[in-house]
Amino acid sequence: MNLAIWTPRLTHGDRKMSWHENCAQCATALPSRRAVIATLAAAALLPAASPLLAAAAVPSSAEDERFMRLALAEARRGDFPFGAVIIRDGRVLARGRNLGRSNDDPTAHGEITAIRRCLADYGSKALRGSTLYTSGEPCAMCMGAILWCHIGRLVYAASVQQLASRIDQIASSIVTGRLLPMACATLCRVV
Ligand SMILES: [Zn+2]
Repeated sequence: MNLAIWTPRLTHGDRKMSWHENCAQCATALPSRRAVIATLAAAALLPAASPLLAAAAVPSSAEDERFMRLALAEARRGDFPFGAVIIRDGRVLARGRNLGRSNDDPTAHGEITAIRRCLADYGSKALRGSTLYTSGEPCAMCMGAILWCHIGRLVYAASVQQLASRIDQIASSIVTGRLLPMACATLCRVV
């Protein structure tokens, strides 16, 4: 099985994260939209001083393949064929599959439903340093959630490039920023 692995390790003081992808087909296409999002989101999570993104090789293992097959099994049960599992210390903490159509919830991607299940059952601490296996390279929303939840390692099966020929990707969106920025900044000072 062709698995791609990102292990976020940003170096900042004693905190280390970096990402890597060992999929030969995908590596030639880097940086992908997800990689850019990962970089930007990771930078946002840390003080602006010196977030350093370094690549490191993380080969997949037989155990990775076993867990990925669980994610693929979830994908088969989804209302759109994507699924995910969250693993910690060799144990399945949560499973998730796409429920967007069933729940009329466009955010119910496999990764998000797995994260929500893990949060409900174990709380956010369990997610820190865990490994998330997902059948498809995460979208922008899921990648952000993965980073905000401090999931330590991401393993996916098919890359965006591989999926793009089969499903439509969000091509564009309209963003309006910096509206009343000081009002928000003032609120943040008292948090
Ligand atoms: Zn997603």
